[in-house]
Amino acid sequence: MLTVNAYAATSATEPLAPTTIERRDLGPDDVLIDIRFSGICHSDIHTARSEWGPTPYPIVVGHEIAGVVREVGSAVTKFAVGDRVGVGCLVDSCRECDNCRKGLEQYCLKGSTGTYGGVGRDGEPTQGGYSQAIVVAEAFVLRIPDGIELDAAAPLLCAGITTYSPLRHWNAGPGRRVAVIGMGGLGHMAVKLAHAMGAEVTVLSQSLKKREDGLRLGADNYYATSDEETFRELAGSFDLIINTVSATLDMDAYLRLLAVDGTLVNVGAPEKPLSVHAFSLIPARRSFAGSNIGGIAETQEMLDFCAEHGLGAEIEVIPAEKINEAYERVLASDVRYRFVIDASTF
Ligand code: NAP
Ligand code: ZN
Ligand code: ZN
Repeated sequence: MLTVNAYAATSATEPLAPTTIERRDLGPDDVLIDIRFSGICHSDIHTARSEWGPTPYPIVVGHEIAGVVREVGSAVTKFAVGDRVGVGCLVDSCRECDNCRKGLEQYCLKGSTGTYGGVGRDGEPTQGGYSQAIVVAEAFVLRIPDGIELDAAAPLLCAGITTYSPLRHWNAGPGRRVAVIGMGGLGHMAVKLAHAMGAEVTVLSQSLKKREDGLRLGADNYYATSDEETFRELAGSFDLIINTVSATLDMDAYLRLLAVDGTLVNVGAPEKPLSVHAFSLIPARRSFAGSNIGGIAETQEMLDFCAEHGLGAEIEVIPAEKINEAYERVLASDVRYRFVIDASTF
């Protein structure tokens, strides 16, 4: 076993603090990765604070991992020492149910294994990316193309794929009007990706403070949702809305912005339920949907798409000792647009 430095949450209310954790011995198909950068996803905060139900403490969160292969197991074929690799939200699944066979490991019928908060093949709780190194089965390791810097690549492993997958599934592209609610970690990637896919992109943010950034990242239009007029002006105007907001919103107000047959996809995962009035859907045959990250093959497709289009996340690199401060800034919507931890500081 390998002992590595990490940062862990020990309760819902204590700040994250330095610790050490054990990584399992390398199995034949395992890859040992030296983590270089680890993104801070809002899901890490929901989990660290038990907002989605009780969290098994102590927990090392982090599922936006970019690093370099240090060692490979005897049966590994896809990766070699020195390769630039990533790990996202999944480290295993049953690999044989209908969904796994279709490359939808995130919807594994037997339940996929999360990068943290799950149970690993060694029977131990899985611990995530806020650490120096990780051991992952090669089937769940992604290749980071040369064109993307490792720090800007890390957030693609969750924020990137979580927005890429619904944009693809609901056909974002030329002639399609896509709105993105919330311009944080997921939201700013949704803007970049939807623009690169050729859609007309509108940001719906709480204020106009980040308008210039939004337009620079590829938005065609930018509106403040604090202004009632926004909802009147945009009524019935979008084919697809991606909601990335981590808090509960008035869904009816946003559903009314959809055109006939439009879909609002919720990727934001607030602690409290979202309510929907039937008459926000009925008069325009609208759909209200959800989407969970993406499968492994689709995550690789997303990374290759980003390399081809010169896309990475907009990041602020921080040392590990600033994690708790970064959490407060994420909660205050003061993130531009993803914090990424320099793993050499764990
Ligand atoms: P984030 O960086 O905090 O971004 C969320 C954005 O939502 C904020 O920047 C802000 O944008 C807006 N917002 C925040 N509070 C708001 C409020 N009270 N009212 C209106 N808008 C508000 O978070 P993230 O990392 O992108 O994650 C967003 C959500 O997605 C989280 O709930 C996370 O757990 C979830 N998530 C889901 C999946 C999945 O697979 N479905 C994967 C990853 C994350 P503006 O300042 O522009 O308004
Ligand atoms: Zn995430
Ligand atoms: Zn499965």
